[in-house]
Amino acid sequence: MIAIVSACMLGINCRYDGKNVADAKLLKLVEAGEIVPIPVCPEQLGGLPTPRKQSEIIGGDGFDVIEGRAKVVTRDGEDITGYLVKGAKEVLKIAKLVKAEVAIMKNGSPSCGCGTIYDGTFSGRKVKGFGVTSALLMQNGFKVIDIKELKRDNR
Ligand code: SF4
Repeated sequence: MIAIVSACMLGINCRYDGKNVADAKLLKLVEAGEIVPIPVCPEQLGGLPTPRKQSEIIGGDGFDVIEGRAKVVTRDGEDITGYLVKGAKEVLKIAKLVKAEVAIMKNGSPSCGCGTIYDGTFSGRKVKGFGVTSALLMQNGFKVIDIKELKRDNR
């Protein structure tokens, strides 16, 4: 199964803090050949550095960002919406290029969030919603799942 995968879950140090969130179960499925991963980090592809400032969506979720109704800001108020939108478009190009069957995305992220994102107050509160890249992939017909769904499917 060819899968777009949030690179940080594969052990790539692309997170805002320069670290990763490698997922042992995911890596096992990769090693077993059940998943052929195409690692992507939309925030790096959008032109942001690593490490970088933490960001959250305010005024909605990724679908609202794409429609211009919400934006992505850092804790100190810098508007970085353009970087996340650019990154989402680059990931969409890659997904089309490799004919991805699924995208396995990191929940909580303003780019990769898949069912849950932070609420825009930088207080650790989560709300239902999707990150910008996950939303754009879904809008273009790609199946987007989070790691929990993958684990449910592959017990
Ligand atoms: Fe991981 Fe996505 Fe954040 Fe990149 S943008 S560090 S792939 S969650």
